[in-house]
Amino acid sequence: MNTTLTMLGTGNAMCMRCFNTCFYLRAASGGLLVDAGGGNGIFRQLHRGRVAIEEIHHLFVTHCHTDHIMGVVWLIRKISPMIYKGKFPGTLTIYGHDEVIHAIRVMCDLMVPAKITSALDHTILLRTVTDGEQLTIADMPFTFFDIASTKAKQYGFRMTLPDGQSLACLGDEPYQPSSEKYVRGCDWLLCEAFCCYKHRQQFNPYEKNHSTALDAGRLAQELGVKNLVLYHTEDRYLATRRLIYTDEATQHFTGRIFVPDDLETLQL
Ligand SMILES: [Zn+2]
Repeated sequence: MNTTLTMLGTGNAMCMRCFNTCFYLRAASGGLLVDAGGGNGIFRQLHRGRVAIEEIHHLFVTHCHTDHIMGVVWLIRKISPMIYKGKFPGTLTIYGHDEVIHAIRVMCDLMVPAKITSALDHTILLRTVTDGEQLTIADMPFTFFDIASTKAKQYGFRMTLPDGQSLACLGDEPYQPSSEKYVRGCDWLLCEAFCCYKHRQQFNPYEKNHSTALDAGRLAQELGVKNLVLYHTEDRYLATRRLIYTDEATQHFTGRIFVPDDLETLQL
């Protein structure tokens, strides 16, 4: 079985035509869900993307912003009773930095029935990860790192696929030089592109601390990346997004460029 990347969502926080950026990495040895979008739309995306709830044993949450973390509460609400009733084999482990784990606990306390919250630390495990920490998840080695966000504290990761390829995820913010050792030379780079450079006056990516397809292409070329996946975009140009984002990234980057739609699965 090839390792695959199913994009459950590809949009930024305020998108209306696609779901918030989150994805499921699936290998023969298991999978990892990265972020959960902004609400219970995660259920529909998982269903449509053919990711069974029962196969989600590992969930990494990059940061506390609503478009990434709110869906986590819904997953806990769904999975906790499933485990209790024997309909979900094993446990769910949720990984995140200290602020993420704290936010999940507080949200569950405030928003979810106590019966469900009682699963935390028993069948739903909350695992705080630290900057530079290495962990094996579904038999694959991961290194989590602080992407040095100037907004909310955010972690990305670099991991090795079963076939030896490396994949780095920079979350939803621009690359910072402190991430170089994790990103340089990777086979796959997952990188945000808020909009096209040519549309910068319409979307103000730099004011919002985001980058463009052109910037992502330049970065990927400089860092010797082989495959570039762009996500966390605006959705006003959804109909032509693949074409116009690829066009810009190609101006600097000679590797392969992917601008996936929601529910698209990439073979890694
Ligand atoms: Zn976001």
